[in-house]
Amino acid sequence: MSNGLKNKVAIVTGGSRGIGAAIVQQLAAEGANVVLTYASSAEAAERQAAAARDKGVEAEAIKADAADGQAVRDLVARVVERFGGLDILVNNAGIFAGGPLEETSDEDFERTVDINIRAVFLAAREAAKVMTSGGRIINIGSIFGQRAPLPGLGLYAMSKFAVAGLTRAWARDLGAKGITVNCVQPGPIDTEMNPAECDLATAMTPLTALGRYGRAEEIAVTVAFLASPAASNLTGAMINVDGGFEA
Ligand code: NDP
Repeated sequence: MSNGLKNKVAIVTGGSRGIGAAIVQQLAAEGANVVLTYASSAEAAERQAAAARDKGVEAEAIKADAADGQAVRDLVARVVERFGGLDILVNNAGIFAGGPLEETSDEDFERTVDINIRAVFLAAREAAKVMTSGGRIINIGSIFGQRAPLPGLGLYAMSKFAVAGLTRAWARDLGAKGITVNCVQPGPIDTEMNPAECDLATAMTPLTALGRYGRAEEIAVTVAFLASPAASNLTGAMINVDGGFEA
C-alpha cells in the first residue's frame, strides 16, 4: 500500500460496482478514508466498504440517490461530522440510456439529466462549501463527452459533454481556493453498464488502438493520481483513459 492519500477523506458516488468500486479500493489502498454511495445495491456496497476497511482505512457505505439534493446534503454533512472535512469528491455515479432519437422517451431524458448532470452539480456544490485548499473534485465523464462516434448516443453524449463543460467552469470557480477540478473520460470499460461482450462492444472494441476493453482498475489509478498532492497543478483537464479510442 502506498501512503499518498493517507488521512485524506473521500466520497465516491456509485461505489458499489464497476468503475466506482475500483476507485474506492484504489483510494483506500493509498490510505484514504472513503465514504461510498449507492442507489440500490446495498450488499455490494457493504462488501466494498468492508474490503476498503481491510486495507486499514475507515470506510462506510451510504444509500444516497445522487440526484436527490437532500440526500446529497445529508451525505456531505455526515462525512464532515464523522471525519472533520472532505478532501476528495469523485462524481462517478451514472447511467447509460441509449437508442435512436425517435424512440427516446421523456423519462430517459429526465433520468439522464438527473443522474448524469444534476447529481454532479449537487455534489460538487456541497463539496465546494466545505473543501479547503488542496481539495479535489474528479468527475467521471466519457470519451462520448467530446465526440459521438456511433448512433444512439444522444442523451449520454449530451450528459457527458455537460460534465466536461462543468469541469472547465468549476476549475475557474474554485482555483482561487486551491481546489482542483478535473474530468476522467474513460473509453469502453468492462462493467455491468458496458460489458466487453455485447453488441456495443462489437462496434467499440475495434475503435480502440489497443483492441480491447479497459478494466475499471485502469480508471481508478488515474483518479487516485488526480486526487494526490502530485497533481497539484492539474485542473480543468479532460484526461482520456481510453485504450487509444481517441488516438
Ligand atoms: P455501472 O452501471 O457498472 O455502475 C454504476 C454505479 O453507479 C453503481 O454503483 C450504481 O449503484 C451507481 N448509481 C447509479 N445510479 C445512481 C444514483 N441515482 N445514485 C447513486 N448511485 C447510483 O457503471 P460503470 O461503472 O460502468 O460507470 C461508472 C461511471 O463511468 C459512469 O458515470 C459512466 O457513465 C462512466 N463511464 C463508463 C464507461 C464504461 O464503458 N463502463 C465508459 C465511460 C464512462 P447501484 O449499484 O446501487 O445501482
